[in-house]
Amino acid sequence: MTLKSEFCLNQAINFQPLTVEANALVKDVITLLSQNRASCALIVENRKLIGIFTERDVVRLTSDLIDFAEDTIDTVMSKQLISITASQISDIFTILNLMRSHRIRHLPVLNELHQLIGIVTPKTIRKVFKPADMLRFRLISELMETQVIKASPTTNILDIALLMATKKISCVVITEDNTEDKNYPIGIITEVDIVRLRARGFNFSSTQAKEVMSTPLKPVQETESLWLAHQKMEQENIRRLVVIDYQGKLSGIITQTSLLRILDPIEMQALIKILQQTVDEQSLQLQQQNQKLKKEIKERKLFESALSSSENNYRCIAEKLEIANQQLQELANYDGLTGLVNRRYFDSYLQQEWKHSLRAQTSLSLIMCDVDCFKKYNDTYGHQAGDKCLQKVAHALKETVKRPSDLAARYGGEEFVILLPSTPLEGAITVAKRISSKVESLDIPHIDSDVSNCVTVSLGVASHIPSFNNSPETLIATADKMLYKAKSAGRNTVSA
Ligand code: GH3
Ligand code: MG
Ligand code: MG
Repeated sequence: MTLKSEFCLNQAINFQPLTVEANALVKDVITLLSQNRASCALIVENRKLIGIFTERDVVRLTSDLIDFAEDTIDTVMSKQLISITASQISDIFTILNLMRSHRIRHLPVLNELHQLIGIVTPKTIRKVFKPADMLRFRLISELMETQVIKASPTTNILDIALLMATKKISCVVITEDNTEDKNYPIGIITEVDIVRLRARGFNFSSTQAKEVMSTPLKPVQETESLWLAHQKMEQENIRRLVVIDYQGKLSGIITQTSLLRILDPIEMQALIKILQQTVDEQSLQLQQQNQKLKKEIKERKLFESALSSSENNYRCIAEKLEIANQQLQELANYDGLTGLVNRRYFDSYLQQEWKHSLRAQTSLSLIMCDVDCFKKYNDTYGHQAGDKCLQKVAHALKETVKRPSDLAARYGGEEFVILLPSTPLEGAITVAKRISSKVESLDIPHIDSDVSNCVTVSLGVASHIPSFNNSPETLIATADKMLYKAKSAGRNTVSA
């Protein structure tokens, strides 16, 4: 924002100031000031400015107890005039500096011919120059006047005017009388009021402040922003506000002039500093947040990769575990020597098929098969040869038992069992006989055998249609009994 561009000279000038002729009566001028709510009258003669009469002059004259009512204005006006020609105004600072250095609030503007064209006052400047942001960033407490002149509500207004005149102030705050520290503001009397009271012909020495003061007050809190003070002055059309602290006690006065102080280069420097600090703080915060975020992202990435590798590891281990489990399961179910399922597996399969046959009421047959004179085989050919022999017999069994539901298992030592679901006794006998001849056809020499010169087997066959009167155990027992019978019958035979 450039001040020059914001500041439009024409708008800063009131081109219709209150003007009066030199021979106007003072009392009429005061009435005009009051009616127009003007803070000064300019005295002109042939368009030339010859004097100025301000509210402050009214206060001064009132306090001097001079009866000037019938005097003409040229006898009381100020002739020491500070003015500016329009062409001298290059920017707002020219005006502000001039007004500040001469401690004036009214700056007449003349043209090149020294004719009056308007006037600049704090009000007009403030109207065009709306430094909203500057005002928003500063607190009332920073710019308020703390030297406030107070008076009690019973003070007569002549004394009030005297106070204003001697202290060269524009207002007196009326504070409560019946509290101890007398610091609670209840009203205010300003130069404007003095002008108004004069215009109405009030008796100054017999009128008390409480009768004419402006009340109730519309104070502002010292912790509020200057922007709020500015807005309140605009809304209420007043030039000053009483400032209170959090307890409601008087802490100062904020005026239009104090608001303009913010345009002071030093004040602006302070504002720029505040803004800079805010920006610095914010960018520092942003930077810190950024770093924190970056760190979090890094940590998250690390965590994610750790998680995914641990997930992979876990998956790997789980797979291996499953394979190991399967292998274990197989080891648990299979016989290491022959590759047939073992007795453990056979038992559970028998239970399962028993139930199935019970429901279906089909025959369940069992063949029990035992190698003949195998102790002698081992004795003759050695244990390793015995193992090989068992493998060959097992292979023969596997080849003979073809249906998917049939199961050949090693029952223990040189004993095997074959379970044949949905198979009646006759069918089982056929299978048993086939096994017998298959083993015989292997032609494994067994010179020490009591029954043959090669390895043979004896088989016992049993078949049940499962019912609640029998059980898998009875099936085994029957088959075992039949096997014993086959052995007794001379071996290398089938008994059913
Ligand atoms: P029977 O004709 O009455 O069945 O006589 P057998 O000699 O076959 O019966 P017995 O029960 O007296 O002997 C079984 C032999 O089987 C005992 C053991 O040496 C042998 N045997 C059992 N399991 C194995 C094995 O895994 N490998 C070997 N090589 N021999 C085994
Ligand atoms: Mg045996
Ligand atoms: Mg045997």
